[in-house]
Amino acid sequence: MAFIFTCGTHKFRSQMQGYENLQVQCQNCGNFSGHVMKLWEWFTFCFVPIIPFSLKPYPAVHCPICNFEQDLKYRPDVQQQVNGGGQAIPMQPGGQQGWNTRPPPPLPPGQGAQVYK
Ligand SMILES: [Zn+2]
Repeated sequence: MAFIFTCGTHKFRSQMQGYENLQVQCQNCGNFSGHVMKLWEWFTFCFVPIIPFSLKPYPAVHCPICNFEQDLKYRPDVQQQVNGGGQAIPMQPGGQQGWNTRPPPPLPPGQGAQVYK
């Protein structure tokens, strides 16, 4: 006789407040159908959650089409959308002064029409 213990993981998902209307691209299937969800993964024993893998729920992008999940920390583009939604982001100090001040090089004469002597 052998005892079969069923271990696994269970993910709790819940909507993130303020992110309900945000749709982001899924990096797995490419569809703009990803939603930002709160995920909380637990270690389960006989389908009973015993130990949380992380102390707190963490935000992640969940795609309902391909069921792909990606931690929000790997999605700086989404974080930018989130942070830029409510408040204005101060532009980079200094702007573009100091670099790229060189004028474009003049086109050499005769380019495009090659003349052979
Ligand atoms: Zn997807």
